[in-house]
Amino acid sequence: MPARQRAPVSAAILPPGATIGILGGGQLGRMLALSAAQLGLRCHIYAPEADSPAFEVAARHTCAGYDDEAALMAFADAVDVVTYEFENVPVATVRSLEARVPVRPGSRALGVAQDRLAEKQLARSLGAATAAFASVNSEAELVAALATTGLPAVLKTTRFGYDGKGQAKLMAMDGMQAAWQAMRGQPAILEAFVGFRCEVSVVAARGLDGAFSAFDVTQNEHRHHILHRSTAPAAIAPDCAREAVAITRRIAEALDYVGVLGVEFFVCAAGDGAETLLVNEIAPRVHNSGHWTMDGAITSQFEQHVRAVAGWPLGSPALLGAEAEMHNLIGDEAGTWASIVADPSARLHLYGKADARPGRKMGHVNRLKPHPVSQR
Ligand code: AMP
Repeated sequence: MPARQRAPVSAAILPPGATIGILGGGQLGRMLALSAAQLGLRCHIYAPEADSPAFEVAARHTCAGYDDEAALMAFADAVDVVTYEFENVPVATVRSLEARVPVRPGSRALGVAQDRLAEKQLARSLGAATAAFASVNSEAELVAALATTGLPAVLKTTRFGYDGKGQAKLMAMDGMQAAWQAMRGQPAILEAFVGFRCEVSVVAARGLDGAFSAFDVTQNEHRHHILHRSTAPAAIAPDCAREAVAITRRIAEALDYVGVLGVEFFVCAAGDGAETLLVNEIAPRVHNSGHWTMDGAITSQFEQHVRAVAGWPLGSPALLGAEAEMHNLIGDEAGTWASIVADPSARLHLYGKADARPGRKMGHVNRLKPHPVSQR
């Protein structure tokens, strides 16, 4: 099938009515499609799962595998630009689409973010610190890697891990064999276990023209490895917040990134009490810790991503009140929806998932604390 005629990428500012193709059909794709619709843009979701939450709010969808070349090419020809909401889309899928249609962010950002080693190497090459780490491909390498990290340490598969999956904490030398077995033969990374003061993230966007814009640094609390609560602005020193944003900007520029990205950091206390930052992870997509922006910022992270991939100017990331809070509704917590909507200050977002399995992200609730009257 011949590729559809399209304008050169440099001239590619999409007009309302144009179609954004999204790889991945989860809640992030759903919220992107809702934001795109608000701007008069259409979305075509491509995902393998028939019950994808994004399908029911998008103009079109394709339910097919990421290796279905014919379906991918038909998708490429039906859309004006492609983006993704899920970082485990195969890089090969994105590369084959890139030959036919602009993909933003591109396959390079995806490739780096899929690999914990590449991610940390990139951060270090840009002058940012990370936890001590070493590559591990066998039990013998695991023992050798401990010389770099010390104990305790965390062994993680380099790829396809999320929400604590594919991770094993190592407290003592006798845990070595079990930790390596938990990796099931996959390449892994051993990281020093960091005694952090708190975890923060920067959710930021880079436009097609290179403009950069960051939301307020967000503080994140995890439970059972899953994000539980995010608040913005983070309760960290202003210098530390500025540094987190500056590191995120260097990462976005190094990847020639277009769209929203999330960078997760550990904030540690140095000997003199100052705060230092360690880069933990880069997400090449809208990020769960940025959900507060839907009700707490002038432009939400979803609208910002749509603007960036459509070649539009970025919107203001300014916080609308004194503090914004987002609380994830995990598993059967979504059953509390009636009490949430009974609170007039709570903004409920449910993802339309039928099955509230334990650990599954079913929705979230945002609350915005207004500025004190004296500052209004
Ligand atoms: P990750 O999948 O790397 O984002 O890890 C999920 C969560 O596990 C992080 O947000 C931290 O709470 C915790 N964690 C991961 N790596 C480390 C580490 N090296 N030191 C301490 N805690 C960690």
